Amino acid sequence: MFNKILIANRGEIACRVAATAKRLNVGSVAIYSDADAKAKHVDVCDEAVHVGGSAASESYLRIERIVEAAKRTGAQAIHPGYGFLSENEEFANACGKAGITFIGPPVEAISAMGSKAAAKALMQSASVPLVPGYHGDDQDASLLQREADRIGYPVLLKASAGGGGKGMRVVEKSEDFAAALASCKREAASSFGNDRVLIEKYLLRPRHVEVQVFADKHGNAVYLFDRDCSVQRRHQKVLEEAPAPGLADETRRAMGEAAVAAARAVNYVGAGTVEFIMTQDGQFYFMEMNTRLQVEHPVTEMVTGLDLVEWQLRVAAGEPLPL
Ligand code: ADP
Repeated sequence: MFNKILIANRGEIACRVAATAKRLNVGSVAIYSDADAKAKHVDVCDEAVHVGGSAASESYLRIERIVEAAKRTGAQAIHPGYGFLSENEEFANACGKAGITFIGPPVEAISAMGSKAAAKALMQSASVPLVPGYHGDDQDASLLQREADRIGYPVLLKASAGGGGKGMRVVEKSEDFAAALASCKREAASSFGNDRVLIEKYLLRPRHVEVQVFADKHGNAVYLFDRDCSVQRRHQKVLEEAPAPGLADETRRAMGEAAVAAARAVNYVGAGTVEFIMTQDGQFYFMEMNTRLQVEHPVTEMVTGLDLVEWQLRVAAGEPLPL
């Protein structure tokens, strides 16, 4: 186990990671911006390093300063929390180069899952079920129109680099496709700096069920059951419920195994979440994988009695999965 870790985040998640570090007798280093000098996360860590101005771009997103803070304080590993740099390949790389363990998956796994389209192509080759659709490289507008016509309306246009419910358009009929494509591409370019889109069959009254997975550096991978996030507003979760209500045992097992197959396909290590969309009759399809600890991880901790941050630290330190 590590002697000391740096927590490259603030607020609730930084306090959450610090609490587990303390319980495991692992030293903790906080980072903070001007605005956060008196924040709780600074208080609960053993040490704290000021990394810059109040804007996130001047503090919590400053890769070189954060890595430098870890080196200076002798932290052996960095926990990125969620948000900020938690799914940033450049950051994971910079940690590796500095000889500091990134508490998260390998850089290759982050990049494989970073694009929804590339991830779907990879999942297809791992036999993970996908929503009928098109996720190809060819982005020619008339080809996309033909693909949408082939899939059958309604279809959903998604920004491949998207997230947070942004860059999505439901298209009800063929005549509306061209205009929706143009507006989806505009939003994708301005929000994500990348206008690539993919098309999916738009499922009616779907459920969103996600599976918590964990993998270690020794080739072991497990799933820690599911969370139902079907109660949404504007395609964003409002309520989470675990275990997902009314799921047949076979469906739960099949989803868990598909999630583990998805993780294995990218040589995953650490905590991850595989999101599935499910029809009313229990058919499920891969949507995307989040390559970090999610904000809602305590929902899984409450039903399993496990400490997922402890698992993250143990796995990052090279220990086998605790279960
Ligand atoms: P984001 O990364 O922006 O959160 P997701 O791909 O995770 O986007 O999708 C967010 C939500 O949009 C899902 O939870 C679901 O409610 C809805 N959604 C996504 N894909 C489909 C689909 N093919 N059909 C119907 N609804 C969908």
